[in-house]
Amino acid sequence: MSVYWNERTRRLQPYVPGEQPKDRNFIKLNTNENPYPPSPKVIEALRKAVDNTLKLYPDPTCTELRETAAARFGVKAGQVFAGNGSDEILAFAFAAFFGKLTQEDKSGEEFLLFPDITYSFYPVYADLWDVPYKTIPVKEDFSIDVAPYLEMIHHGNSSGVIFPNPNAPTGIALPLDDFKKIATAAEERKRVLVVDEAYIAFCQKACGQGTCGSTIPYINDFPNLLVVRTLSKEASLAGLRSGLAFGSEELIEGLCRVRDSFNSYTMDRLALAGTVAALNDASYYDEINSRVIATRDRVSSGLKALRFKVLPSEANFLFAAPPEGSGKNGGELFAALRERGILVRHFNKPEIADFLRISMGTDEDMDVFLKACQEIILKQ
Ligand code: PMP
Repeated sequence: MSVYWNERTRRLQPYVPGEQPKDRNFIKLNTNENPYPPSPKVIEALRKAVDNTLKLYPDPTCTELRETAAARFGVKAGQVFAGNGSDEILAFAFAAFFGKLTQEDKSGEEFLLFPDITYSFYPVYADLWDVPYKTIPVKEDFSIDVAPYLEMIHHGNSSGVIFPNPNAPTGIALPLDDFKKIATAAEERKRVLVVDEAYIAFCQKACGQGTCGSTIPYINDFPNLLVVRTLSKEASLAGLRSGLAFGSEELIEGLCRVRDSFNSYTMDRLALAGTVAALNDASYYDEINSRVIATRDRVSSGLKALRFKVLPSEANFLFAAPPEGSGKNGGELFAALRERGILVRHFNKPEIADFLRISMGTDEDMDVFLKACQEIILKQ
């Protein structure tokens, strides 16, 4: 604590990202990055963008990028927002749409709703922007329980809803029908639903009655729906910082109002050029991302063969707990793997303390990981 900090800064409990160690060459399976390189066309576009135009500010409206994204996803450019990573877009969305909605609203009685097991940045943004929130317990199988959301929305107790699909860190996807129920109820009350699709490119299987997959096509049906995407995972560009959001023009304008009250140039010239090139090379990314999916399914079977409990992931990571009676809990397995130069993620939260979140690396990395798990577990 510093005497120079204001009251808000003292109150903050910042998000802690997975470590990026520099001292040792780890197999890094802890931050859900893509193990494959960005498209060669992206690298070429970035090289070309390094020229004298860097003396000029970038286009604050990101027009070329928004038009490219609109063409790729079949929407209008006015339905696209671009930002410096999806975390930034999420931060803007919290500021723009949640919390106290009108001067006369019953402040303190309306809550932003999100699952109790989810992306741990959400409560941080809520605290930053003074958004009251309630977490809704996931079901015993860790899937999202839709009924409590509908009930709170119907009773007027919700200022909005946010969840990742697939959820993080479980990797479990929400069936389309459940998404529609929440979106419909929220629209009836004129509340915003943010679907954070950070991992949707790795979601393939049909779930329940509907098929899962991106909800971007639904932005025309639901003017209250904001779909947030990141280039960090699906386009191997975590180092570039680039994210997109899709929604009705009024939602996009809300995000622009917040951005332009904060920093008009959140995307620099390199990020703009790299993102356009990535969006134009879907076939390269389809190929590498299908490899990630195949690796995930293979590692899932490998862990199950070692009697791990593995949740049904539709993301580029697995959420898995070592077998009962193996003598190792989640924290101990995390430490044993770290000792062997393998970094995974462990969350110190009682409900999920048994689990590790394992980002998918290359097949070679994952073979090393599986072998290490086997040795650690069998050593007991
Ligand atoms: N949403 C979820 C669910 C995530 O796991 C992440 C990655 N930490 C993000 C958003 C942020 O991604 P980025 O800021 O790299 O676009």
